[in-house]
Amino acid sequence: MYYFDSINGKRILRSTIIKDCDCFFTTREFVLTPKDRPDLEESALLNKKTLFEKFKVNKIYTAKQIHSNNISIVKENKTEYEDTDALITNIDNSVIMLNYADCVPIILYNKKNNIGSVIHAGWRGTESEITKKTVEIITKEMGTNPEEITALIGPAIGKCCFETDEEVFERLIKNRNQKELYEQKGNKYFIDLKLLNKYQLINSGVKNIDICDYCTCCMSDIFFSYRKEKGKTARHSAIIKIGEAK
Ligand SMILES: [Zn+2]
Repeated sequence: MYYFDSINGKRILRSTIIKDCDCFFTTREFVLTPKDRPDLEESALLNKKTLFEKFKVNKIYTAKQIHSNNISIVKENKTEYEDTDALITNIDNSVIMLNYADCVPIILYNKKNNIGSVIHAGWRGTESEITKKTVEIITKEMGTNPEEITALIGPAIGKCCFETDEEVFERLIKNRNQKELYEQKGNKYFIDLKLLNKYQLINSGVKNIDICDYCTCCMSDIFFSYRKEKGKTARHSAIIKIGEAK
C-alpha cells in the first residue's frame, strides 16, 4: 500500500512493503531534476542538499536515460552512467536515483544480499523487457533468489491516459486475449504499462510486488506529466538507499 510521507514538509510517496531500507518516489513538491523547467533549478539544488544531509552521503548515483534496456551495476567512483535506464547497487550505504515524467518507475530491493535497483520503463523499455533483464542480472549474475526481491511499481501514466496507435500496441501486446492489459477505442489503444511490468516481475519469479494506482497524467497536480504538460516539464524521481551488508 502506498502512502504520502514528507521531507521538510514536501510530499514523497512510500510503500508499506519495504521497511528495511529508505526508498521512495518524489512528487512535484520535492523536485530534484528540473530538466525543461529552469525555473525549478533553485528548488532542485536545495532539495538535493536536503537529501545528501538526510542520507549522510556525498554522492548519488544516477544515469543519462535514453529509453533503452541498458543496465549498469554501479561502481564506487563513477556517479553518472551514460545511456542507461536501470541502475543496480550493492555498495554499502549508497544511493541510486532515476527520473520520470509518466514512464514507469520501479524500485527493487533484496534485503538478504543488500542489493537495490531503480528501473526506468517507458513503452520502449517495457517492450525491450528492461524489468525482466534487471531481475535476471540480480539473480543470475549476482547469485540471488528472485523470491527475495521486493518490488515497487510507482506512479506512472495509467491505462486511462496512455493512448497509442496500432504500431505501438502491436509491439507491446503480444496476446490480444489479455484484455486486462489494454482497452481499444476505435483505432486507438489504451495500454497498461504498469501491469506489463508487473507481469515481467512475476514471470521472473518476483512475488512481493506493490503497484501504485496513481496515474501521473490524471494527477499532474502532484506528479510531473510529459504528456499532460506537452513535454515542458521537470521530473520526479525514484530513489533507494541501501544500508550495510550483514
Ligand atoms: Zn490517467
